[in-house]
Amino acid sequence: TEACLGAIEGAGALNAFVHKTPEIAMQQAEAADARLKGGEAPALCGIPLGIKDLFCTKGVASQAASNILGGFKPEYESTVTGNLFADGAVMLGKLNMDEFAMGSSNETSAYGNAVNPWRREGDETPLTPGGSSGGSASAVAADLCLGATGTDTGGSIRQPCAFTGTVGIKPTYGRCSRWGIVAFASSLDQAGPMTKTVRDSAIMLQSMCSHDPKDSTSVDFPVPDFEAALTGDIRGKTIGIPREYHMEGIPAEIEQLWTRGKEMLADAGAKVVDISLPHTKYALPAYYVIAPAEASSNLARYDGVRYGHRATLAAGDGITEMYEKTRAEGFGSEVQRRIMVGTYVLSAGFYDAYYNRARKVRALIKRDFDEVFASGVDAILTPATPSAAFGLGEMKSADPVQMYLNDVFTVTVNLAGLPGVSVPAGVDKQGLPLGLQLIGRPWEEGDLLNTAYALE
Ligand code: GLN
Repeated sequence: TEACLGAIEGAGALNAFVHKTPEIAMQQAEAADARLKGGEAPALCGIPLGIKDLFCTKGVASQAASNILGGFKPEYESTVTGNLFADGAVMLGKLNMDEFAMGSSNETSAYGNAVNPWRREGDETPLTPGGSSGGSASAVAADLCLGATGTDTGGSIRQPCAFTGTVGIKPTYGRCSRWGIVAFASSLDQAGPMTKTVRDSAIMLQSMCSHDPKDSTSVDFPVPDFEAALTGDIRGKTIGIPREYHMEGIPAEIEQLWTRGKEMLADAGAKVVDISLPHTKYALPAYYVIAPAEASSNLARYDGVRYGHRATLAAGDGITEMYEKTRAEGFGSEVQRRIMVGTYVLSAGFYDAYYNRARKVRALIKRDFDEVFASGVDAILTPATPSAAFGLGEMKSADPVQMYLNDVFTVTVNLAGLPGVSVPAGVDKQGLPLGLQLIGRPWEEGDLLNTAYALE
């Protein structure tokens, strides 16, 4: 813990930690030490972690990297962080992210972006650590903590892991309780670990999962021993390669990485087969209707009364002005865009044309996966991202759709509620890490992590 706290002090330029909690960390470390001395050895005893700012942590600023939650210190602990601390984990502080987890580069954060510790060979251009869990990825990659929590609504664990050479898993929807995690799009959001190795992800995920009566979508299934599943033996497994993921404009080096991944799995004894997920091309548009729709509803609660920031009012201002001024000041432009898109697609005149249509597409996307798994496929291999980490500012163009295209390989998994893992699988020609994604059957995270382990 002391070594990590020291490393964090020396790595301010990464802007990974937005609130540091050294006193809490030292107290928790001492308590962990006492438990060890008392003969107890919980799984994460004394392990220093960073916590994404989207998780409510009792008495500690939890702002979802938004000004509208300025000064908000929850009275309660999220179930996931509570589980980690019960297993002896230590909190070093809160990690940077895109505001309300909306973004793919960490550039929508009210704290300014986190920075990727990686650089292109011979080029000092600062790069994005990805988003929305960019601070988590940057902190793990730079050894500021041994692991971090992330959340993934459309790729926010897997894409930053791919950009920083780290491992992360989004479990099956319902595995982790969403209670106490600031909601973005409730039917898509899941928490998961971000770590250096597959084994660390297995151990950390184990602790994060639980049935929680406070989240009606969390499942009451036994949590298997994910670490025990890591045998490295994938002989006889069937790995599907979806033809629709060979998309136009994907760089040759991403295709090569994918081919190498296929070869590695085949060499380890898996059977690699071509599969089809015919509705893939509709996933991004469906996601960018459903996620903003749910966000517009979830974010209605930030009204200047219940949480955080309230605008200074002028004489004569009434409650309407209070709402308007507070929300105009408190939300950044990407969040405002999502609220407007979401409100539009849910409005009486357009609900059927957009929101209902997107829901139907979502069902078809899920059915594509169901059919592939029913045919005997155990896991699906795809690239995690269409490129390596890009330069900060490079994608922040006038057209937000450019940024949305980054999520092309990851959003299908959230729409279908499936587990997906991103594992580092090589470097591009400029020496930057690249990641492969494995998508698994629902509730079979152990098996999925074992396949990732064979790739590691
Ligand atoms: N980049 C996607 C978005 O902006 C996904 C974000 C996430 O998974 N939280 O919505």
